[in-house]
Order: sequence, then C-alpha cells, then structure tokens
Amino acid sequence: MNEAMKEVYDSVQSRDPDQPEFHQAVEEVLESLGPVIEKQPKYIPVVKAIVEPERIIQFRVPWYDDNGDLHVNRGFRIQMNGAIGPYKGGLRFHPSVNQSILKFLAFEQVFKNSLTGLPLGGGKGGSDFDPKGKSEAEVRRFCQSFMMELWRHIGADLDVPAGDIGVGGREVGYMFGMYRKLANEFTGVLTGKGMSYGGSLIRPEATGYGTVYFAREMLSTKDKSFHGARVAISGSGNVAQFAAEKVIDLGGKPVTLSDSSGFIYDSEGIDRQKLAYVMDLKNNRRGRIKEYAKEYGCEYTETEPEPNLNGLWGVEVDIALPCATQNEMNGEEAKMLVDNGCVAVAEGANMPCTPEAIECFHQHGLLFAPGKASNAGGVATSGLEMSQNSLRLNWPREEVDRRLEEIMVNIHRNSSETAKKYGMEGNYVAGANIAGFLKVAESMEAQGLL
Ligand code: NDP
Repeated sequence: MNEAMKEVYDSVQSRDPDQPEFHQAVEEVLESLGPVIEKQPKYIPVVKAIVEPERIIQFRVPWYDDNGDLHVNRGFRIQMNGAIGPYKGGLRFHPSVNQSILKFLAFEQVFKNSLTGLPLGGGKGGSDFDPKGKSEAEVRRFCQSFMMELWRHIGADLDVPAGDIGVGGREVGYMFGMYRKLANEFTGVLTGKGMSYGGSLIRPEATGYGTVYFAREMLSTKDKSFHGARVAISGSGNVAQFAAEKVIDLGGKPVTLSDSSGFIYDSEGIDRQKLAYVMDLKNNRRGRIKEYAKEYGCEYTETEPEPNLNGLWGVEVDIALPCATQNEMNGEEAKMLVDNGCVAVAEGANMPCTPEAIECFHQHGLLFAPGKASNAGGVATSGLEMSQNSLRLNWPREEVDRRLEEIMVNIHRNSSETAKKYGMEGNYVAGANIAGFLKVAESMEAQGLL
C-alpha cells in the first residue's frame, strides 16, 4: 500500500479497533488508490475525509411481541458521503448488524453509487432485529417503531433508504406507511416500494439482473457467455432469485442455492418452474431451502450458521455468483472453484469474497467482478425509482430494464478502461475503486472538503 494511504489506514484502525469489516472494505479501496495518489497527491486530504462518515445516527427501537413483552433493538443510519447527491443505501435487519458492518456497507455504497453515473450519495442503515420467526404483526410493529425515529433524519432530497438483507417489499411498505403518517407528505423517501404506491417495475429484479448483465459483459471480453454454463449461486433471497432468473434467460444453468441453514445442489439445473417454487417458498411461505431438496429429490447439505457455506463452492461450475452475505467465500473455497475450472466470479452480495479469495482469482487469471460494480444495478434502479417519483410517472418494464442494462454496460466499460489507464488491465477491483473514487473526490474538493 502507498505510504500516504497506509497512514490513513492505520488511523482508521486505531480509531475504531473493533470494526474488522469496515477495515477490510477500507483496506481494499486504499490499496487500489496508490497509483491515483502518486499522480494526484492533492487527493490525500480527500481520502482522510472519505473514510469518516459525515454522520452516524443510533437509536432505540422498542417494540412489543405478540405476548405483550417489550423488546429493545438498536437502529442505525450511517450517512457516509453526500458530495454527489442525497445519501442512498439500504436498510438491513439481521442479528449481526453493528456499526462495523454498516460502516463497511455505507463506505462501499459511496463508490458504487458514484459508478452508476447517477447523483446518489452513499449511506446504509438497519437494525440488529431478526425478522426470522416473527409474526406478521411483530414485523409490522417493529418497522413502525423503527421509522418513528428514522423519519426525522431522512427525506426525498436528504437520504433515501431501500431494502437489504431482511428488508424486502413488505418491510419497505410498513416503513413507508409510517413515514407518510409522521411527515404528512407523500414523497419518494424510500425505494423498493410496491407498484401501487410509487414503486418501479424491475426494482425487485434489478440487483440480480444487473449482476448477470455485468458478468455477461466481463465474459464477452474472453469470447465466453452464459450459454450452456453451469452456475453456482449462493443465497436464495432477492438477489439470488433474480440472478438465477437472468442466468436461465441467457441459456445458463443455475445448480445451487442456499440459506443460512444449508445449500441445495441440483445437478439437473434449476429451471423456471423450480425457480417459481423457490420464489413462493421464500417470499410467500418464508420456508427453508431444504424443502426444495425434498420437493425435487436433489442433494441438500446442512451448514454451520454464519457465513461459511461449507462446500457450496466445491461444486463443479463455470461461473460463480455469491449472492448471500459478506465473507461467505474464503481463499480455500476460491481455490476449489479454480481447481474445478471456474472462469468467472461476479459478486451479487456486498464483499462476499475475502481478500484471500480475490487474491486467488487474480493469481489464477479468473474474471472477477467486485460487488460495488456488479451489484450496482439495485441502487441504480432505486435511482430510477426516485426519478419516476419526482416526475410522478411510471416507466414501462422494458424502459427500466433497458436503462438498467445500459448502466451495467457503462459500469463495466468504465471499470475496465480505468483499470487499463492506471496500468492494471483486467483488474475490475482497482478499476471500480478508482473510477468510483475520482467523481466523489472531485466533488468533495470542489465543495471545500466539508
Ligand atoms: P435477502 O434477505 O433477500 O436474502 C439473503 C440471503 O442470504 C438469504 O438466503 C439468507 O438466508 C442468506 N444469508 C444471509 N445471511 C447469511 C449468513 N450469515 N450465512 C449464510 N447465508 C446467509 O437479502 P438480499 O438478497 O437483498 O441481499 C443479499 C446480498 O446482496 C447482501 O450482501 C446485500 O447487501 C447485497 N445487495 C442487495 C441489494 C438489493 O437490492 N437487495 C443491492 C446490492 C447488494 P436466510 O434466509 O437463512 O437468512
């Protein structure tokens, strides 16, 4: 790492020693910025500022369960960087949520949002609330209580949250209803809304579709495609489901899916009918992925809780799309993919591959797409939802999908050309980090580094 960047990194570590996920995200970006800083040392102060959130809001979220007992969760919103637009980023409800995880996500979001080419700053938020096993009424009461505090810190021109792990259309709906009541206005303050009250077509599909569009672009640089490819996908939530759908559209064969209890391996491939079953299972019945194995008679492997998929990446595939959570693939698992002849990995989740895994892909010449480039389609389409809300218009499905695809093609081109310009051809990590950084850095500098 460049000397000046090392100094910034050391100070990040010593200021918040108990934030390993945040350190990991910062280290990856600062490593990429070396060549930029050598050419333009004027950006050193920008880097010092960019690693510090503009504002962190932490609050109490009390709610009553169905037995009338009180629970108290923690709510957060990290407003990381507003230099190029209103803060934008999802809300995560998961028991693992803490400041380290949200700061890493908010930090990544700054560069991702910049890469989309849309005027979006970076933010992230959420709670350590676990929606699993809660009744409908409990989830509703929690969402309402969460918004009872968050509403005063957000706004259509200030900060526009969306969904993430544990926050889908249902939760966004409950939070939007509470915001509307408290603020006494109907504005596009959240994205991922239902179609009947200001949502955008293609928003649910956008992150998964976008990841596959990006991977398709990357594969085409080596004259390869999804056609006939076997694809490992982790997760079975929003991103995984629609990544699988787009893989099928492009003639590929998804063979795995997972949740935090285990993974299925369907060597015949997950076709449209089986995927419809998964969507119903996960989105309506809120069941576990092992039920798929019973339904279709395929292999199911139980895994340890917490992000270790114990064998999913050992399956023989051409392409891997990690779409579950951070650090779900380590160096050894990456090596298994390499040994099995995998040619490309695109991150649908945020930071699912550890630094050792990424190093392994680069060493062995695999195509590797970092999440901040390949999963940017979700936030980009949220940006399109904001535009439609401001215009008070709804664009048709084809129009939104066309814009999403165009944005993903542009992000691919921009990351690829930037990597080449800075002497790291084929390194999408460096290309995305540098391209995302430059736009924000220029804006921060022009605004006097406040
Ligand atoms: P969902 O909650 O819809 O799905 C998450 C999936 O990952 C579930 O199958 C879940 O299993 C699994 N999972 C979550 N935590 C763990 C864990 N610790 N170990 C093993 N499996 C786990 O979330 P999304 O699909 O929306 O998000 C997935 C990833 O994509 C996240 O990293 C998110 O930040 C990222 N992302 C999402 C975007 C979006 O638009 N939704 C945009 C950009 C990035 P289980 O149900 O058992 O918990």
